[in-house]
Amino acid sequence: MKSLGCMQLNEKNHVPFLTFPRLSALPYITHAFSTRKGGVSQQEFSSMNLNFNRGDSDEAVLENYHLFCTAAGFDFHKLVASAQDHHTVVRRVTSKEAGIGIWRSRDMQSVDGLITNEPGVVLVTYYADCVPLYFVDIGKKAIGLAHAGWRGTAAGMGAHMVKAMQTEFGSNPKDIIAAIGPSIGPCCYEVDSPVYEKVMALTEIAPYQCLQPKGEGKYMLDLWEVNRRIIQHAGVPEKNITVGKVCTCCHSNLLFSHRVMGAQRGGMAAMMALNA
Ligand SMILES: [Zn+2]
Repeated sequence: MKSLGCMQLNEKNHVPFLTFPRLSALPYITHAFSTRKGGVSQQEFSSMNLNFNRGDSDEAVLENYHLFCTAAGFDFHKLVASAQDHHTVVRRVTSKEAGIGIWRSRDMQSVDGLITNEPGVVLVTYYADCVPLYFVDIGKKAIGLAHAGWRGTAAGMGAHMVKAMQTEFGSNPKDIIAAIGPSIGPCCYEVDSPVYEKVMALTEIAPYQCLQPKGEGKYMLDLWEVNRRIIQHAGVPEKNITVGKVCTCCHSNLLFSHRVMGAQRGGMAAMMALNA
């Protein structure tokens, strides 16, 4: 088995996918993060594009979902997708929502976080540089997935997820295992003042330690560390938080990166389910 950063690079049926050893050790969940490889899409979507509405054919994206689900161990019929728009709305979903955003149309405008405690339901969120956040409550057996770009990160998406799991499932933050997936890393994520100011407003997490000045009003931002600190501040013990340390920009041969490819690209997905 190969590794990438602190994640495992698996391959089945010629479909590569990334996993966290910490989450793989939990026998009652299945989780994965997709790559660019192993699908049927062409040109800029080549080849494992899991995003609808980017110009790729729906047939190709659906076929990619079938291929990915078979390889990574998910039930295609139980997928429930987010409706991401860089806010912090968290939605609790069940098998009643199965197919939403995949083979059924979306029924909400804004859902950047998904949670469930129903075995079998597969949470699906999308990425191409933004940060995937995985949550597993090992006490109440509940899970969550969230999309956090710089806006969602600065708006405290990680804390909103912990809060939603507390409210919906009675989760104790001390029982939550969190994992921070592939995204643009501190090596490549240069930002300027609007982003800098939003991050610096997170005074409770000593944000200046997550920003490296580059001069001329530019900074290198460590979104992994900002999210790690926000989740810890929400009550999740430091030892329970894993950072994957995989940069999409550095690994754009394997992963889609908005910074590298611009809008002409496909998108990846994070998925997680409680085993049925
Ligand atoms: Zn990088």
